[in-house]
Parts: sequence; C-alpha cells; structure tokens
Amino acid sequence: MGEDSFCYIEHACLNRIDQSIKERVIVWRRQTFPTANGAPMAQDSQDNIEVTLKGIPASEGIAYGRVFVFIQSEIEVPHYQVDAEKRIDEVARFDQALLLTRQQIAKIQNEVEKNIGPEEARIFDAHLMVLEDQALITETIREFENTGLNVETCFNKISQRYIKAFAEIDDEYLRERASDIRDVAQRVLHNLLGQADTSLSKLADQRIVVANDISPSDSAGLDRSTALAVVTDSGSKTSHAVIVARSMKVPAIVGMRDLTTRVRNGEWAIIDGYEGIVILNPTESTLFRYGKIQEQKKTLETQLLDANRKPAVTLDGVPVSLMANIEKVDEVGLVNDYNAEGVGLFRTEYLYLDSSRIPSESEQTLAYKQVATALAPNPVIIRTLDLGGDKPMSGNPHLFPKENNPFMGFRAIRFCLEHTDIFKDQLRAILAASAHGTIKLMYPMISGAEEMARANAVLEECKEELRARGTAFDEEMVVGTMIEIPSAAVTADILAENCGFFSIGTNDLIQYLLAIDRVNDRIAHLYEPTHPAVLRTIKHIVDEAHRKNIPVGICGEMGGDPLLVPLLLGLGVDSLSMTPPLIPAVRFLIRAMTMADARQLAVEALKMTDPKKIHALCVEFCRERMKV
Ligand code: PEP
Ligand code: MG
Repeated sequence: MGEDSFCYIEHACLNRIDQSIKERVIVWRRQTFPTANGAPMAQDSQDNIEVTLKGIPASEGIAYGRVFVFIQSEIEVPHYQVDAEKRIDEVARFDQALLLTRQQIAKIQNEVEKNIGPEEARIFDAHLMVLEDQALITETIREFENTGLNVETCFNKISQRYIKAFAEIDDEYLRERASDIRDVAQRVLHNLLGQADTSLSKLADQRIVVANDISPSDSAGLDRSTALAVVTDSGSKTSHAVIVARSMKVPAIVGMRDLTTRVRNGEWAIIDGYEGIVILNPTESTLFRYGKIQEQKKTLETQLLDANRKPAVTLDGVPVSLMANIEKVDEVGLVNDYNAEGVGLFRTEYLYLDSSRIPSESEQTLAYKQVATALAPNPVIIRTLDLGGDKPMSGNPHLFPKENNPFMGFRAIRFCLEHTDIFKDQLRAILAASAHGTIKLMYPMISGAEEMARANAVLEECKEELRARGTAFDEEMVVGTMIEIPSAAVTADILAENCGFFSIGTNDLIQYLLAIDRVNDRIAHLYEPTHPAVLRTIKHIVDEAHRKNIPVGICGEMGGDPLLVPLLLGLGVDSLSMTPPLIPAVRFLIRAMTMADARQLAVEALKMTDPKKIHALCVEFCRERMKV
C-alpha cells in the first residue's frame, strides 16, 4: 500500500512541479524495477554479481553503502564444571574480564565527556562503582568455590540476584541501580565469553543495518549518522523499529525473509525504501541510475517542503489539523521544521527504552517540560507509557516476564495500573510539566470506561500529591484516550462521556479487529486498513465522539498515508498525527481536494465490501485530484 501511496503522490507532485523531472524518474523506474514480488529479480549470484531482492517498503529513501549484519541474541551462558587443577586460572579469567570491563567503561566515559559533556559522563561512575562492589565479586568467587561451576554461571547467578533485589526496592534511586548492574553484568559476560558488544548505537562507521528483527530498544539506539538504512527479515510497516526509522528519515525495508543469510558483512548494497528493493553488489550502471533518482528525490523533497509552509486547508476552505508523532525529546525540532500544529502523539516509552531503565520523576518532568515549552502554545499530547507487546524493556524480566502472546498481554495501561509507583512517577511528571505549555494527557490501550476511570483515579491522587507539595500544574489539563482496542471502539459512546478527546490508534486497532499480528510478515498482506470492518469502526468512533462534542484524531500509521487521508477526513476525523517527514505529502493532497468530495468518497467506500476495491477507489480519488 505504501508503494502505491508513494508512487501516486510522488508522480502527482512531480506532475505539478516539473513535468520533465517526472518523465525521467519514471523512465529510471521502469529500467530499475521489473515487476516481481518476494523473489529475486535477478539470478542469485556468486560474489560481486548484482542481485535484486524484494521486500515490503517501510520507510522512504535510498541508501548505498556496506552492510552490517546485526545478530541480536540473548547472551547464552554456558554451564559446565571446571576441573580442580584449572580453578586458579578460572579466577584469573574472572579478574581479567573485570579489568577489561573497567577499561572499556573508562574509555566510553572519556569519549562521552569529550563529545557530550561531564554531566552525562558521570552516569558511568555508577557503572564503575558496580565493578568495585566487593560483595558482587566475593560472592561470585564464593559461589565458584562452592559449586566448581564456570565463572560465567556463578557471576550470572549472583548478578541476577542483585538485579532482582535492587529492582524491588521501594526507593527510586536504589531501584535505578538495578539497571546499572544489568548493563555492567552484560558487559562482563560478553568479555568472559570473548564476544563483541553488538549494540547498534556503536556502529563504527556508516552501515546498512541488516537484521532478522530489530527490537524497539535497539532501534532507540539507532544513530542516524551511522545507520544508512534498516532492513529486516521479519516485521511490518507498523512495527516500532520501522516507525522510529521513518521518523529519523532512515530508509527501511521489512519482510525480506532470509536476507540475513544471503548477505555478508561488508557487502555493498543499494536500499530503495520507496519500492522495498535491495540490490546487492550493484553494477556501475545501477549506481548511476540510483544516483540520478536520488538527485531527483532531493529536488522533489525540497519542492514539497517549500509548499509545506502553506496552511493545510482543502479547496472548499476546511482546515485540517496536522500534528506530529514523536518518540524522543530531540525530535521536537522536526515538529517545527515540518510545520506541524503540535504533537498528536508523544510515545514516552522511548524514554524508558532508550536507557533500559525507568527514568526518575524529575528526569521525566524535564523531558516533558522541554517539549511543552518548545512548542507552546501548540498542544502536546503526551501518551502515558506503552511498554510491553513489541516494546518490552530488555533486561527487566521481573517487570516484563516472557509472554506467549505479548500483544494481548501485560502492556501499556494494564502494566501501569499494576505498577502504580512507576505510573504515578510519570503522571506527576506530566502534570508538573503542564504548567509550562499546553499539555494533554492520553492513555494507551484503554479497553473501556471502567479502566479509564481507574487511570483517572490514580491521576487525581497525583494531583493531590502535587498540591500538597505546592507544585504548580494545569488544573484544566485535558485528558483523552487512545481508541485501539475493539471493546473501546464499541463502547465509544460510554467512553466519550468522561473524555476530552479520542485518538484512534489504527496500528493496534487494525491488528485486533482483523486478528493480524502487526509484526508478522507472513500475514502482512492481510493487514488491510481499507477493510470494511475498519472503516465502519472508525465511522462509529467518530460519530459517537461528535455526538458528545469531543474531537477525534488518528495517530496510527494510516493517518500518514496520503492515499487514505481523503477517506479518513471524509469519515469525519478532525486531525491527523504522523511521523513529521510524512506531513508535506499529506498537506499537498489536502490542498488539492475538497472536503465535500472526501465525504462522498467515504459514503461510497462504506457501501463497498472488498478492501482492495475500496483501496483502488482511494487511489483513483487521489489520481484524479492530482491529474496523474
Ligand atoms: C497505534 O496503535 O496506532 C499507535 C499509534 O500506537 P503504537 O503504534 O505506539 O502502538
Ligand atoms: Mg498502539
């Protein structure tokens, strides 16, 4: 769907901007992309023969560079008995690993101090202190002497015991030490096993990252200066690693099935995130073609960006509010760069995933305040943390035990209502920041009015606590909810009674309505946003919300797909929130259509039964408006 979406909108824009550029791009396209799906488009090859492979396009852009195959694995700790005569060597091996770990941390600390600042570098003091902790070391050695088991096993057992004990302490500072111990313990284990630390944040030079899958915590560590592109064997367009890549404007392709086994580290490749194509060992002529295409894309992007300063108003004068989805505080600049009217979704869980630890209340207050102040008076919708599902916090099995069905499991508001200490830290932080801008609060994964009432009761407790502390906050702060679970959609009339706004999370809503795991590439083709069930559900939510006079936005990926925007607006959606780089194309389309036509489109679509035909109708709508 993204493929179509890009082609039509791109061609449409090009059509209006520069006919000659359009023709050239189309010619290159034909030469470059014979039609094939899911299979090699050239013969599979020996070394240095060009091979073209097709996956699912997930984030636009073209990259060329060397591949880094990212193998993400849990550390497998071997378990064996050490011979009596080798026991002295075993202790020496442990000492050596501790020494090496100390040197590595000191080196990182120096680099951070040089490149970022002394304040940030001090974080590593805590890591060095863990290494000095005699209890951890002597207990490991005692365990070794008692059992004769290899030191990896002994160290792992003792460090896990410490991590668990610290994580359960009812003191914020001490609780945070659990993640320091976890980080250091991982490093020591890597060193004992002679393994390199393969974090994505430490790519030595610019690389195309090829992985089986990328977890949200790994994606949080992606650095746009070194990650040229992201390509995964599994995943879908709504998986979180892809959403992060898109917001960083890093080209991405998913659903490559077995690329990790076909490609070698260091091999050269072109990544075409528009079409979902990977070209291994590109020839000179392919490189030349892509060089040209990239040049034209840049021209198009500049033109679209220029047009992006204009208001998002339809031809019949209806304004549409375009907002930004952000994951990190430093993305606030993008909100202004792309002329968004505020933040429609701040996925705060990335504050937790970034550091693999629970950020303190004061750290969070600072982060939320920074965003609110930078964008005031525009609104910032802060969503309370949505950890779990495909966003577990790595290394925290006591908080996120492994589940058979994580998407239906212990995530988001369910987690928060059980861990009210963590939830309350966040709520107080959001409230305190609300004194510095226009903050709205939003709960994720609400299943019905009773759950929303429970969340609001915790919020009220937090307000009382802040009043007692004398901390100012916005007493009128608007509170809304995501609608992403079918039960919430069906009971939208009840939820709307006590709710400031709805924001439809189509990524999850579609997966639950259609029973399609959103990160399973095998069934990605069944994930159809134009399914009649999806359209009827959105219509129902909008109607019930409007009956109670509350606004409805879309913050799932569907809201940033230009082809589907007219349909969503025709169904009555009031605002759209998306990854900032998608805003220019959406704005361009809004300015080329009338709301009256969009309403008619929705009426037609609601009468139809076949998702593909509804999609084709949407494509036709855009094609006509853009005169392609
Ligand atoms: C959604 O489900 O549509 C949504 C915006 O939330 P997330 O993608 O973070 O689950
Ligand atoms: Mg969701």
